[in-house]
Amino acid sequence: MKRIRIDEKVLGDDLRHLARFTLPGEVKGAVSRLPWTPEDRAAVEWLRGRMEELGLVPSLDPLGNLWGVWDVDASESLVLGSHRDSVPQGGAFDGALGVMAALAVIRALRKAGHRPRHNLEVVAWNDEEGARFGTTLFGSRMYVGALTPEVVVNMRDTAGVRLADAVQAAGYDLQRMRPSATLARIAAYLELHIEQGPVLEREHQEIGIVTGVGGIIQERITLHGTRVHAAYSGGDRHDPVLAAARVLHRLAVVEADRNRMRPRAVLGVTVGRVELSSALVNVVPESVSFTVDSRAPDPRDALAALESLHEELAAVSTSGGLSMKTAPLNDHTTLAGAGVRTEPIRFNADLGAVIRHVSHDLGYRAIDLPSWAGHDAMALGPRVPTAMIFVPSVRGLSHTPSEFTSDLDAGRGANVLLHTLLALDAAP
Ligand SMILES: [Zn+2]
Repeated sequence: MKRIRIDEKVLGDDLRHLARFTLPGEVKGAVSRLPWTPEDRAAVEWLRGRMEELGLVPSLDPLGNLWGVWDVDASESLVLGSHRDSVPQGGAFDGALGVMAALAVIRALRKAGHRPRHNLEVVAWNDEEGARFGTTLFGSRMYVGALTPEVVVNMRDTAGVRLADAVQAAGYDLQRMRPSATLARIAAYLELHIEQGPVLEREHQEIGIVTGVGGIIQERITLHGTRVHAAYSGGDRHDPVLAAARVLHRLAVVEADRNRMRPRAVLGVTVGRVELSSALVNVVPESVSFTVDSRAPDPRDALAALESLHEELAAVSTSGGLSMKTAPLNDHTTLAGAGVRTEPIRFNADLGAVIRHVSHDLGYRAIDLPSWAGHDAMALGPRVPTAMIFVPSVRGLSHTPSEFTSDLDAGRGANVLLHTLLALDAAP
């Protein structure tokens, strides 16, 4: 029997088309599709049409998640998807691949005349990145009931717009946002995604079977000193910038050592934003704030890294006459699903075994690896059997216009998604 295959050219064209729905005037190749915006609304309308062409019944739920359902009147559904939002000036693959590949799977099944035994559902989750309001995994966490409107109602974006107002302007009602009853019929959730790291490419692998998602802790650290003129010389300046630089340099040394020793099981600490209380050439700023993002396959390692950073900062602050403050940036208990101080999310091992078998059967080189980034699958994982498939992103780049995955690699991932779905659909 001839094996059903994904049309990778159509999948690639779909990805390029979806990338057109972006904030106008962005740099070439950049995708900025933030939640509750006209760009997102336009993307939804296009996706809805694409779903209809494939005979799916589209519907936008009260949380802003777009669903396309192939209802065969079964009691259980198999769900494929990912998110449709991007970060500002992100790329065309993060999230988008999982959505368009899900539609490519349906296309292949229709073409082959397959009659599924389960209902098949495609989902394009809303606001996974949390790039606008800090509401990471908004659509999927709301869907499973891990996030409630009360928590997010007063959050503001950088322009000062309240989430409640943005939601209303986009035609939604925060009061109607509640967990969905359709969760109960999901027999499995499968998400294809780009790796967002260099492991697959570096190891010449084509498919990643994602074992789980590590813990992520984010916080803002502020060092307070004394604002003085550059003319104030001598050893008794309380300079927060130099103190922060000293600690971050130390952090860089520790990270480099660790990566040398364990290149695959690394622990990542990232300083992504640094802000000074003043921006004058001839003034020592009164304070410096910086964000720290600490992540590891085992969240206890992420926490330990952050705690050792705190110790170094406290020592430098004391000796430099500075004060230090820390504030959490994410909700540690819900972002990591089961809580950052507990075990990380592990995806369903039986589904992982199916993906492994399917990958080998298709002749693809595949390895197991953990995810370093958060995904909607994290929200689903504790509630329904969940698995993720990674394909390489060139040079491990993501969240940048340079993000790139070839049609061939995207097609391989979609073929694995397709045949995993078929295996699950065939099982009683
Ligand atoms: Zn993503």
